[in-house]
Amino acid sequence: MAEQTITMEKVTSLAKRRGFVFQSSEIYGGQNGAWDYGPLGIELKNRIAGTWWKEMTQLHDDIVGLDAAILMHPRTWEASGHVENFTDPLVDCKKCKTRFRADQIPEENITAKKCPECGGELTDTRKFNLMFKTNIGAAEDTANIIYLRPETAQGIYVNYKNIIQSNRMKIPFGIAQIGKAFRNEIVTKNFIFRTCEFEQMEMQFFVKPGTDEEWFNEWRKRRWAYYEKLGVKMDHLRWHQHGPGELAHYAKEAWDIEYLFPMGWRELEGVHNRSDYDLGRHAQFSGKDMQYIDQDNNNERYTPFIVETSAGLTRNVLMILCDAYDEEKVADKGNEDDWRTVLRFHPSLAPITVAVLPLMKKDGLAELAQDIRQELKQDFATDYDQGGAIGRRYRRQDEAGTPFCVTVDYQSKEDSTVTLRFRDSMEQIRVPIAELTARLRQEIKTYKRG
Ligand code: ATP
Repeated sequence: MAEQTITMEKVTSLAKRRGFVFQSSEIYGGQNGAWDYGPLGIELKNRIAGTWWKEMTQLHDDIVGLDAAILMHPRTWEASGHVENFTDPLVDCKKCKTRFRADQIPEENITAKKCPECGGELTDTRKFNLMFKTNIGAAEDTANIIYLRPETAQGIYVNYKNIIQSNRMKIPFGIAQIGKAFRNEIVTKNFIFRTCEFEQMEMQFFVKPGTDEEWFNEWRKRRWAYYEKLGVKMDHLRWHQHGPGELAHYAKEAWDIEYLFPMGWRELEGVHNRSDYDLGRHAQFSGKDMQYIDQDNNNERYTPFIVETSAGLTRNVLMILCDAYDEEKVADKGNEDDWRTVLRFHPSLAPITVAVLPLMKKDGLAELAQDIRQELKQDFATDYDQGGAIGRRYRRQDEAGTPFCVTVDYQSKEDSTVTLRFRDSMEQIRVPIAELTARLRQEIKTYKRG
């Protein structure tokens, strides 16, 4: 297989062309930091979310789910430390008006107050709070300020006692949540990597103080194994430990899983030991007792420590798109058809699992293909395409990342078999129609990326 360079431009352009992701409000010139997920994009995002949810809840007896509101009592964000600390250092160029995160441009530019783009003069560095603020109710005054949550985690902390009581959870246990979060990011670039509106998949694991380090290491192991199971390129993943200067205000220890995106190594997910910071602060600000009473241990009371795994769902969509993207030379005729673009999604993540294609529209092939699709629909996400040359139709499915194509031809009418074509190898085999569902199930279960 010839090597091609994967660039963010190529991934972005394919994502738009095939209806994965569109720029928000494009007809008005676009809205910075916001993106819309098209027909294929929403399917991919839902499958990534579903895979994570299954991993966290179905496969872990000691984790339950939650869906908390985006709007929370404003005191939440005072208690969490976000009002005071959730800031980025910001500088502006007085000449070209570009805005930078001071920690993302070279130190010497800050010291010399020199714009890295145009050489113009930079402003002093100032703190910029990333939380979106709005008002609730009719009057626009400071008394009714409310924030869009910058992380989903706090919805979990404020509910932890409810969940212990209603679901009889015992420490150690976890609460998982997927939902939107909002940050007024200064620099939004690299497509959906860093956006103002995004989704997170967070799991907060409540443990007894003193066992937190052990659980922290355990969750690091589990999160690494999760990506392995997802079938992503493991040489594109690495750990990065936060140094003392990098640690968030709540963190005792933090490690990021980084992925090698086309623009370089970047954070994909964080595993954090948040200590008893959050529950301690909520106890202090709400006046409520946030301690756990260990009924199996002489009613011992303590404030649990929290180990958090925090992954971006939309960032995972970008990772999966980049990871799956491939260009392969399939012929040597000297034209652009020599190459195919293929998204090598794991079949369980692919937006379309199987496409049914009649070789011809006529002679009853289309009708037979429709019947087969109707049957497959019960178990798989399907597509149907009867237009154009079969080779072109395969290419369209390759670009959408469809792992299997079923082609109905004249022989199908005679012996009730079809061609099953595999996206990755382009291999084609004959399969009886009656065995298709079982065969596809088996292929999905045993899939290994070549
Ligand atoms: P960064 O340092 O890159 O701003 P962070 O360390 O503040 O990110 P966390 O607060 O740990 O990020 O958020 C957990 C996860 O949420 C990140 O690993 C990332 O996948 C995702 N995430 C955070 N901010 C954004 C964003 N603006 N857009 C998309 N995903 C994000």
